[in-house]
Amino acid sequence: MKAKLLNQKGNKLSFVLEEASPAFVNALRRTASEDVPTMAIEMVEFRKNSSALYDETVAHRMGLLPLKTDLKSYNLPERCQCGGEGCARCQVKLTLTAKGQKSGAVVRAEDIKTKDPAIVPAFPKTPVVKLFEGQEIEAEMTAVLGTGKVHTKWAPGHVYFRQLPTVTISKKGEGMLECERLCPTQVFESKNGKLMVRQNGEQDCILCGACVDASEGEVKVLTNKENYVVYVESWGQLPPEDIIEQSIAILDEKADDLIATLKGRVKQKAKA
Ligand code: SF4
Ligand SMILES: [Zn+2]
Repeated sequence: MKAKLLNQKGNKLSFVLEEASPAFVNALRRTASEDVPTMAIEMVEFRKNSSALYDETVAHRMGLLPLKTDLKSYNLPERCQCGGEGCARCQVKLTLTAKGQKSGAVVRAEDIKTKDPAIVPAFPKTPVVKLFEGQEIEAEMTAVLGTGKVHTKWAPGHVYFRQLPTVTISKKGEGMLECERLCPTQVFESKNGKLMVRQNGEQDCILCGACVDASEGEVKVLTNKENYVVYVESWGQLPPEDIIEQSIAILDEKADDLIATLKGRVKQKAKA
């Protein structure tokens, strides 16, 4: 299998995966969305809440705030040495204290104070609640690591893929400049009145088929089950390259577990 980086900017990353299989690329996608842990607020204890919103509504909003995640310092509660009871290795405390004002004060994610500077809201300007004069909120939150298969608030981002096509133009098709105008992702360019595929243009093809229809088959867009473009959009907790690195490590661990289990069974059978 070969991988080639296409784009990497901010929270987004895309790469080409060659000589893969649909099962593998889908396993990578599912592992990334469901098994890569991130930090999220799981418990909220309200000391005061005289805002217009119920405790449950504010707690729900807090739970959905993406928190920057440090996977080296924290364990999943079920894998922690405390047995999931809660300790400094599997949870972090955060607090929020805010008072309203006459014109209404918007309490934002950045107003949340944390005991660990590595675990902070990824988008500080996210609004949590609006407080008017006389209203206040005081809460202590507990953030823990979790996975997207338990609740989507722990999913690290959106990972999707599509087949990488091969776009070919017949001799007759070179005159069909209409395809350049019709293509929604600018796969084509024209030079000296000839239709051509732009350099690396195929990577942007969304398989809409407009060029095939317009050229009555003189332009062909063919896919195979081996080459894919994979897109990763992080929701801010982890850099997108870390999401893929973690997914591969988790897949690797699962494969090792499977081999160990199968070997154990074979040994048991041999003894019997
Ligand atoms: S199939 Fe659609 S996106 Fe792909 S090259 Fe043709 S027009 Fe462009
Ligand atoms: Zn613990």
